[in-house]
Amino acid sequence: MDLKKMNNHYDIIITGGGCAGLSLAYKISKQQKLNNLKVLIIEKEEKKKNDRTWCFWTTENLVFNEVISKSWGKLQFSSGYFDKTFDIKPFQYHKIEAKDFYPFVKGEISKNKNNHLLQDTVHSIDCENGIYQVKTGQKTYTSKLVFNSILDIKNLKSSLKKNQTLLNQHFKGWKIKTENICFDSNSFQMFDFDIPQNKEVRFVYILPESSTKALIEFTIFSKKPLIDNEYDHFLKKYISKKLNIDSYIVEEVEKGEIPMTDFKFRRIEKNGVHNIGIKGGMSKASSGYTFYNIQKDSSKIAESLCLNKILNPYQVERYTIPERFRIYDSMILDIMENKGEYISKVFSTLFQKNSIHKILKFLNNKTSFLEDLKIMSSVPSYPFIKAFLKKKLL
Ligand SMILES: Cc1cc2nc3c(=O)[nH]c(=O)nc-3n(C[C@H](O)[C@H](O)[C@H](O)COP(=O)(O)OP(=O)(O)OC[C@H]3O[C@@H](n4cnc5c(N)ncnc54)[C@H](O)[C@@H]3O)c2cc1C
Repeated sequence: MDLKKMNNHYDIIITGGGCAGLSLAYKISKQQKLNNLKVLIIEKEEKKKNDRTWCFWTTENLVFNEVISKSWGKLQFSSGYFDKTFDIKPFQYHKIEAKDFYPFVKGEISKNKNNHLLQDTVHSIDCENGIYQVKTGQKTYTSKLVFNSILDIKNLKSSLKKNQTLLNQHFKGWKIKTENICFDSNSFQMFDFDIPQNKEVRFVYILPESSTKALIEFTIFSKKPLIDNEYDHFLKKYISKKLNIDSYIVEEVEKGEIPMTDFKFRRIEKNGVHNIGIKGGMSKASSGYTFYNIQKDSSKIAESLCLNKILNPYQVERYTIPERFRIYDSMILDIMENKGEYISKVFSTLFQKNSIHKILKFLNNKTSFLEDLKIMSSVPSYPFIKAFLKKKLL
C-alpha cells in the first residue's frame, strides 16, 4: 500500500495546535527543505480567543517579532522587605497576546498548501508497524511521525511519584483602563509579594501597556484554585488600596492555570510519539515560564528534521532546562508547597544580593555552575538542603 497516495496520510501529524503545536508547524514551514512535507495540525478549539498573554525575556531577536505588542527594559520587584526597579538592558521583557499570535501563525502556516489545520478532537494515538494512527471523532489519520502537545492533567496526577510535587499556578487578571495617568509604561512589575501570603506563594504581576492601561494579575502557587469572586475581590481591593486608583474600567479578563511540577515528562513515549510543549517538559517547574523554551525547542526540531535526525532527550535538555536546573526547581517547588510564605523572603534576598542580569540568566537556565553556586550561596540554604534531602534528588 502506498501511504503517500492516501489522502489521510501525512508526513507529520501535530496533535494540539496551541503554542507548541503552532510554533512547531510555523518553524517547519519556514524551512525550505521541509516545504514538500505534508503536515497536519489537529486542534479541538477555534483558537480565536485572547486566552493567553505570553511574556518572556531575551537578548536575542526572536522570530515572532511581528506579534510582540510591547517590550519593557525595566523590571520592578517589591516585597515589603525589598523594593527596587531594575534596568534589565540588554534584556527585554516581551509580550505576545494570543489574539495576535494565533491568526499570525495560522496565516503563515496556511501559505504552504501542504499544511492542513484541522479543527477536531483527538481521541487516541496508536502505533502499528511503525505507522501512527491518530483517531478523531470523524476519521483516522496516519503518519510515521507524531508530535503531541495534548496534556492530560488527570493522567499527570496519577503518574506522579511519591517524591514529586504538583502545584497549580492559578491567576486572574484584569486589563484596566484608568481615567488618570497611573502607570509607568517603561517598567513592568514582575513580583509584588507585599500582600498577605496565606501560607502560600502569592503575588501581583503588572504589565502596563501605557500610562493609563495595564494588566493586573493576582497569582497564587498552591494546590487548588480560588473561587472566581475571591480573585475579583482581591483585585478590586489591590487596585484601590495599593495602587490608589478609583476610576477605571475593566476592558478584558485573563484567567489561567499552569501546572508546576518536577514530574519527569517523557520527550519520547514508549511508542515513539514525540511530546512537545508542557507535555514535552518545556515548562520551568518553579515559575511556569514555557514560551521561550517552546521557541528554542521548535526551532531545533525543525533544524533537525532538515538533517533527517531526531533529537534525543539529553540534547533537548541541554538547550532548554538542563538537569541541574530541574534539581533546583524541584527544591524550590518543595518549599513552595510546604512553606510558601518563605518564598517572598528567598526572592527578596535573591534580588537584593545579585545583579539583575545574573538573576534573569539564572531564571532562564543559562548560568554556569559556578554562577549558580554564587547565586545559591546568597540565599538562606537551610530550606534548600532540607528539600534536597527530603526529595532524595541525587
Ligand atoms: C493564561 C496563561 C498565560 C500564560 N502566560 C505565560 C507567559 O507569560 N510566559 C510563559 O512562558 N508561559 C506562559 N504560560 C504557560 C505556557 O506558555 C502556555 O500554557 C502555553 O500555551 C503552553 O503551550 P502548549 O502548546 O504546551 O499548550 P497549549 O497552548 O495549551 O496547547 C495545547 C493545545 O491542545 C489542544 N487540545 C487539548 N486536547 C485536545 C484534543 N483532545 N484534541 C485536539 N486538541 C486538543 C488545546 O485546545 C490546546 O490548544 C501561560 C499559560 C496560561 C494558561
